[in-house]
Amino acid sequence: MRSYLLRSRTVAAALLTVVLAACGSGSGTGSGGFGGPGAGDPYFPKAGNGGYDVTHYGLDLAHDPRAHHLTGTATITARATRDLSALNLDLKGLDVESVTVDGVTARWSRDGQELTVRPRGALDRDARFRVVVRYSGAPETVTDPDGSEEGWLRTADGALALGQPTGSMAWFPGNHHPSDKATYGIAVTVPEGLRAVSNGEPAGEETKGGRTTYRWRVGEPMASYLATLAIGRYEVDRTRTADGLPVFTAVDPSQAAVSRAVLARIPEVVAWAERTFGPYPFSSAGAVVERPGDAGYALETQNRPVFPGAPDTGLLVHEIAHQWYGNSVTPRTWRDMWLNEGFATYAQWLWQEDHGGDTAQRTFDSLYAGGYFPDAATNAALWSFPPADPPDAAHISATPVYWRGAMVLHKIRQTVGDDAFAALLRGWAQEHRHGTADTAGFTAYVEKTAPGKDFRAIWAEWLHGEGRPGSP
Ligand SMILES: [Zn+2]
Repeated sequence: MRSYLLRSRTVAAALLTVVLAACGSGSGTGSGGFGGPGAGDPYFPKAGNGGYDVTHYGLDLAHDPRAHHLTGTATITARATRDLSALNLDLKGLDVESVTVDGVTARWSRDGQELTVRPRGALDRDARFRVVVRYSGAPETVTDPDGSEEGWLRTADGALALGQPTGSMAWFPGNHHPSDKATYGIAVTVPEGLRAVSNGEPAGEETKGGRTTYRWRVGEPMASYLATLAIGRYEVDRTRTADGLPVFTAVDPSQAAVSRAVLARIPEVVAWAERTFGPYPFSSAGAVVERPGDAGYALETQNRPVFPGAPDTGLLVHEIAHQWYGNSVTPRTWRDMWLNEGFATYAQWLWQEDHGGDTAQRTFDSLYAGGYFPDAATNAALWSFPPADPPDAAHISATPVYWRGAMVLHKIRQTVGDDAFAALLRGWAQEHRHGTADTAGFTAYVEKTAPGKDFRAIWAEWLHGEGRPGSP
């Protein structure tokens, strides 16, 4: 998630006694042709759904910030992965007006975030089908188990949608789990004078009757938590990298002056990241910069990360690195968050090392010695749980997932050497490009690429072990 900015937020979260353990169960999965209300996530059991695989979301939305009202038509194209007499979508809040499956009105019911759809006729395994949901209402802000806010955030001049881990269900129905990625077409109509920015590339805009429709097209698979929508007044800049990759930035006017220099480095950071991680996985890059306070953290939304205020270079590097690690290679469940955050944090260490700053070894040593963070509590929090096994949903974005996750990567680098490690970073991104991956897949990949090395102690002590390992 999130980042780095969030040093203070993660500390605050660690001090809270959050007892919001993931609740509910995935019961009902697989019986009687029901798709089931969850995708089997260990921390968010109701997130996502069983029985189908979405290939494309067509979202046609209209929003008026002054009325705080959203109207939407979601056209979800999917393939059944088993025979289905009913299937679930995730949708939080909002009023459903109608549901059709393949053009035929379907029965539906709601229970919390679960929208259960019963098509007129059963869907056979492997059938391709299209669900259309019409809905409207006042979209909600979601408070996560760790106390941070996501979903639909109201801003001074509009709105901002952020979805990690579960907030996208606050603005469109879907299979809201990272294991199901899809392409998107997003059309957003807003009062004339405002702009709507999303993922992918702009695909046209038109104004009539005092309203402007902005269209966006996402041609590469995207996990729904990486979908974003930023509505408001923005200064927009379109440029290209030296390789021709389109770069689209949208900046709140109050942040334009302070953001200009760092955003001008996007092509340089992308070029460095391509040398380090391999080919850029998507067909455009960029950034959205909102006012500080419009969001509590930065997020690596696909193609263009969202920042609350001008980022520093380290944070920009972090979120751009996520385009490879997280957005292209997506965690299979929320337990695998360290595959996002450990890599994006290590990317910052590599950037520093390549640009005259501390070496990764020095950063690692400082963390191990307990002197990296300015406060003792965060230095101690590093050892509060193993990065691959967060204790509950409130800790998937906590300190060990980021920094101890990066330390795992550094231990691998120490074991295989710099050249093999560089190849491993690129190879992992290539092997799972536009897919999903989990921790067991990663350790198997490392062992396969370095057959003569012994990683057992690294997995046991650094990745899965409780407490601070006995030696650095
Ligand atoms: Zn991150």
